[in-house]
Amino acid sequence: MSIKTGIDEIKNILAIGSGKGGVGKSTVATNLAKAFAAQGKKVGLLDADLYGPCQPGMMGSHQAPKGNGNIIVPVEKDGVKFVSMGLMNPSGKALIIRAPLAIKAVQQFLTGVQWGELDYLFIDLPPGTGDIQLTLAQQAKLAGAIIVTTPQKVAADIAKKGLEMFETVNVPIVGVVENMSGYKCPKCEDVTPVFGKGGGAKLAESFKVPLLSQLPIDPELLADSDSGETTYSNDRDSFYQKKFMELSTVVEKELIKAQEQAKEFETKEISVDDLGLNIDWLDGSQSKIDARSIRLSCPCASCVDEVTGEKILKSEDVSMNIKVLGVKPVGRYGIAINFSDGHGTGIFKFEKLKKMSAATGDSFSV
Ligand code: ADP
Repeated sequence: MSIKTGIDEIKNILAIGSGKGGVGKSTVATNLAKAFAAQGKKVGLLDADLYGPCQPGMMGSHQAPKGNGNIIVPVEKDGVKFVSMGLMNPSGKALIIRAPLAIKAVQQFLTGVQWGELDYLFIDLPPGTGDIQLTLAQQAKLAGAIIVTTPQKVAADIAKKGLEMFETVNVPIVGVVENMSGYKCPKCEDVTPVFGKGGGAKLAESFKVPLLSQLPIDPELLADSDSGETTYSNDRDSFYQKKFMELSTVVEKELIKAQEQAKEFETKEISVDDLGLNIDWLDGSQSKIDARSIRLSCPCASCVDEVTGEKILKSEDVSMNIKVLGVKPVGRYGIAINFSDGHGTGIFKFEKLKKMSAATGDSFSV
């Protein structure tokens, strides 16, 4: 029997990202995974934070995954299959690898792990918006992304960049989790705001995405995370576990909504003719956009000044007879277009193409 690896049998891959480190992204990823597993879901957790992997500690398992040739068999703990760079590098020493190799390692985690059938795979991203995050966003067929921030303005301002990255690559944003939203009294459920208020809510509001949860600093969560003892069971009645069980319900609901919204800009078929582009959208509508309008709206650095946003390309520079010669998909969010004037460096987002055709009145429903 051949051993299947990769992500084909995973129903939903969710990335957990943040702008800054130390805001609780790994805590959210681990506890959300365990909360879903406690409800009987098949769950995986991929610690893609190559430079600061902390899942082995939080999951409470330092057992190295079994390898079989190029195949990695995930470790299973509390019903969660998990793989972490921390388990591949048991020396505990700092991992010094350059970005291209780090990207290769992440790709290996996607294609070479025997994940099997899963309802959810959570990916704990490294903080920030660099190459690893972008590779995952483009290659992991993400069903959605969750952004974790703390309430301080400085953290929320950086988290905004994470949201913008996912928006750019058309990954549905499930919502924002505000962590360390005050301090929870160890003896009762009183919460005192120690880091200010409202950073997560403002962030969610400005992107028109839901605020999924506000989790206070909870000494019990800290102690359990440090000892790897965040085991979810019916006979435990801890405050943080209740919060994560609630969060899992909200995530499930909001993921469906976010995917519905993202469908607005998903395509069924794109064809090219002498006039320009014809796009059949997943929602049943169709667009016809003429080649010259598209060429004139090219967003590449030689057509638009990257700093000022001012148009460099002039209308008189584009022939009335310009044609689209071909298109190439870019991730799930757009296409690169080759024009008859030899230009082909612009990436056209589906969202922009759909809005363009609506603006020119060349969009219709069938
Ligand atoms: P990140 O993944 O964003 O770097 P972590 O999840 O590793 O952050 O969290 C950083 C530290 O803060 C860890 O020691 C973690 O246990 C602790 N922590 C995170 N969230 C909370 C919380 N709500 N209450 C108490 N401790 C927390």
